[in-house]
Amino acid sequence: MLSGFKFRGGIHPDYFKLTAGSRVRRADLPKEVILPLRQHVGAVCESLIEEGERVKVGQKIADSESPVSSPIHATISGTVAEISVRSTPTGERVRSIRIESDGRDRWLKGKGIDPEKSSREEILAKIRENGIVGLGGAAFPTHVKLNPPEGKRVDTVIINGAECEPYITADHRLMVEESRRIVRGAKIIAKVLGAERVIFAVEDNKPDAVERLRKATSGDFEVLALKTKYPQGDERHLIKAVLNREVPPGGLPFDVGVVVQNVGTAKAICDAVCDGIPLVERVVTVTGDVRKPGNLLVRIGTLFSNLIEQCGGPVGAVRKVISGGPMMGIAQSEDVPVIKGTNCILVFSERRVVEEEEMPCIRCGRCVDVCPMGLMPFMIRALVEKGKFDACSEYDIMSCDECGCCAYVCPAKIPLVQIIKRGKMALASAKEVGR
Ligand code: SF4
Ligand code: SF4
Repeated sequence: MLSGFKFRGGIHPDYFKLTAGSRVRRADLPKEVILPLRQHVGAVCESLIEEGERVKVGQKIADSESPVSSPIHATISGTVAEISVRSTPTGERVRSIRIESDGRDRWLKGKGIDPEKSSREEILAKIRENGIVGLGGAAFPTHVKLNPPEGKRVDTVIINGAECEPYITADHRLMVEESRRIVRGAKIIAKVLGAERVIFAVEDNKPDAVERLRKATSGDFEVLALKTKYPQGDERHLIKAVLNREVPPGGLPFDVGVVVQNVGTAKAICDAVCDGIPLVERVVTVTGDVRKPGNLLVRIGTLFSNLIEQCGGPVGAVRKVISGGPMMGIAQSEDVPVIKGTNCILVFSERRVVEEEEMPCIRCGRCVDVCPMGLMPFMIRALVEKGKFDACSEYDIMSCDECGCCAYVCPAKIPLVQIIKRGKMALASAKEVGR
């Protein structure tokens, strides 16, 4: 079934899904992992262990009492070698635990529960205890997202399999190879929210994933093949494309009766609830200019450099390593570990990074046409460059989700997203000072 609705703007970038047909393979067990104490949206965790302590896989090593946070578990067995501040793929500097492996992969086994016989509260507790966060990149704590505020009724759950970024295929392979566990996770989500409708939303460039999900759902849920368009994976745009509902500015999907969960998160929920398995590993696409691009099942905390080597090493001199896709990913300036939200490591060599000279804006309006948020990027850019941040607010700069569509189509090669990010930061700090 195809969805007949559309979201505003968007683009059709060139797709390089080099790894779409590559089965997920288990990465080698790393000799060490680095686990930042914040890998999620929300409060940083406190360490529950000390340097020199021995730990097992699945052991909780950090947690927080804050309502919006998520615990961290050891992802290899071994010894806590160091607790210090380090860089993460999000660009933050966060206190992190370094564990050296004993090479034995000893687990602390958890216990699952039967979701059909368990209460909503018991299921939410399992999800929290096992450190589940949104695996599509946002890393919002799942137990919070599945617990809407009083008075917000959710009638529909959308399971997000859009994966609209060029290059990334981690969710695609998961849908093909783990469709049954994704569907079990979706049933648990629907039960917790009391939602009567579950819709799987997949872009039509992944027909094998659509077919597997249709088989796995046995007709119980709808599986939609959406027309491929970037950035359909953003939950606001997905809700519009699937249900024709608009999340109000500053609002959340709850406000229109919807919760969106990524396919990887649905699988992780199934693992946590049914089998008591904490979030210690995830699928990461390692692609671009590497000799053997692939989809790897990776222990969280493994260094990017280790995974690039496991994919045959780079082809040519490395110019950029990006965490995420080319549209919304973050370029890395040092070697960092995979965290819960890392879905892709993208390597670009010299030949792929073309320096383009920035030209004056010709007011062609293309940036306006493609902006899914209905903004005027060229105006916002002019205001940021003049330092008129208050006026940027009038042009709704804070609604920009940094999708990159405007910069992608700009014939003058103006780095619109970087300029808009700068404006958002300046505005946020001006508000902070004014408080
Ligand atoms: S697309 Fe580029 S050149 Fe065209 S109006 Fe926007 S900023 Fe100006
Ligand atoms: S980056 Fe921001 S301004 Fe540019 S198209 Fe996306 S939402 Fe619009």
